[in-house]
Amino acid sequence: MIRFDGVGKKFGDNEVLKELDFSIAPGEFVTLIGPSGSGKTTILRLLMTLEKVTTGTITVAGKPLSHMDKGGKLVPADEAHLRLARRNIGMVFQQFNLFPNMNVLRNITEAPIRTLGKSRAEAETRAGELLEMVGLSEKITARPTQLSGGQQQRVAIARALAMEPDVLLLDEVTSALDPELVTGVLHLLKDIARTTDITFLCVTHEMQFARNVSDRVMMFDSGRVIEDAVPEKLFTAPEQERTKSFLHAVL
Ligand code: ADP
Repeated sequence: MIRFDGVGKKFGDNEVLKELDFSIAPGEFVTLIGPSGSGKTTILRLLMTLEKVTTGTITVAGKPLSHMDKGGKLVPADEAHLRLARRNIGMVFQQFNLFPNMNVLRNITEAPIRTLGKSRAEAETRAGELLEMVGLSEKITARPTQLSGGQQQRVAIARALAMEPDVLLLDEVTSALDPELVTGVLHLLKDIARTTDITFLCVTHEMQFARNVSDRVMMFDSGRVIEDAVPEKLFTAPEQERTKSFLHAVL
């Protein structure tokens, strides 16, 4: 579903990602862990085409987002293809990013109507099902400001699912939540991962969640994957000293 081949990313002289090679199978749940500034969010932003690679190729569902021409110059895929790729990938952010001027229902139905071409009735029926799934049916007409952080994040998750993505990117989705709201959101995500075919790529500091839900965990340091293993292995018997010291500091 996702493949990185020799992906490098520089911001000016700052080489943030170095020769990254990895792939994620359809339906897999992969978590990225590692210190702040190691390049995790940049990976998600490259997948969303919010940033461009400096070298290498990212392929989503078999289609490259860009390629290098013979002179080594980066050529992005055509706009129609990028639009399709973006539609295929949902993202849930740390700061929810709901539309403040729209109620909960419209937050969820807006994109399916505009970009999937769904009728309002069809989009609203689906939004109702999704709100039931995230436990917020009674908030359908509320504005985002009337909701707690945990409720806003549930709406953001429902909004992402309404686009029927094949891939869902999760960027520190519980970092802005009060501690007592974190577990509920993580339970919800675990349920979604278990009951759908969606491929997940998740950046988190919630090590217990990473351990519970992931098929694979990739430890990142200084723009490289330094360890890639099933959670039981990575959390109980890591091979790299850097992984050991990171886990020691955060657990
Ligand atoms: P992480 O998610 O692991 O904390 P990031 O991917 O956010 O790391 O950042 C990796 C590095 O890239 C940091 O040094 C950060 O300052 C830099 N960086 C990220 N985005 C930009 C940008 N748009 N412009 C310049 N530097 C950036």
